[in-house]
Amino acid sequence: MEVIRRLSQRFPSKPKLVAGEFVKRGRITPFLHSKILILRSQYKPVLNPKSSQFNHAVSRGFSSSTVRSPASWLSGLGKKKKVMDLPSIVQAGDPVLHEPAREVSVEEIGSDRIQKIIDDMVQVMRRRPGVGLAAPQIGIPLKIIVLEDIKEYIAHAPEEENKAQDRRPFDLLVILNPKLKKKGNKSALFFEGCLSVDGYGAMVERFLEVEVNGLGRDGKPIKVDACGWQARIFQHECDHLEGTLYVDKMVKRTFRTVENLDLPLANGCPKQGVR
Ligand SMILES: [Zn+2]
Repeated sequence: MEVIRRLSQRFPSKPKLVAGEFVKRGRITPFLHSKILILRSQYKPVLNPKSSQFNHAVSRGFSSSTVRSPASWLSGLGKKKKVMDLPSIVQAGDPVLHEPAREVSVEEIGSDRIQKIIDDMVQVMRRRPGVGLAAPQIGIPLKIIVLEDIKEYIAHAPEEENKAQDRRPFDLLVILNPKLKKKGNKSALFFEGCLSVDGYGAMVERFLEVEVNGLGRDGKPIKVDACGWQARIFQHECDHLEGTLYVDKMVKRTFRTVENLDLPLANGCPKQGVR
């Protein structure tokens, strides 16, 4: 799920990093991604033959394991090489985002390939930064999710907003083959965004409390009881594993660009909050 606001918003003195800010009513306003959970991802052209990145890779004569994102091989060597080697984010429309991913077998979990995918996912999520990422978002049609929310991100949102969203920091979670079920009947409506639907957000209704069972990166069973914002992140990420984007579930009339997130809702739209 897309984070909230990009780290870049904090460094207005560095032009390259100010992309997350925008001018509103004649002044520079901190990015409004506090309302958004951005689940963004990036990856190398990879394993899914239907992925556009895979096709691009093949057409360039690279194998799926050696190709880098265009930005990476154009930039060449240098200090940025390691960063640029990270997978690029797959955007809406790519089949890998619209089809169910497959489970990771127990035998595969300890493999170098799966462990590398997990490491890359964590790096990509933190680089954006995001609060969650699903493997299909980097072109990998496997049921793997990573999520993390930290004080540093949360501190950029108004306190009352964090309170309303029940948003609190939590350590990195890596879950393979997650199975999610709701707990209770309460739900919440808030804006969220997705790194695979770059630049937009919308209100989505999510369960307030969920239980997630799956496997850790060591293959051992893991169970998480989540509520509030963490529960929202889980639902957003697990939806990715079924080929579902937030736009498939959003309150359509609330869909907007991130620059317009704070503008009034259209007539007839439900209010944000817990229901
Ligand atoms: Zn997403």
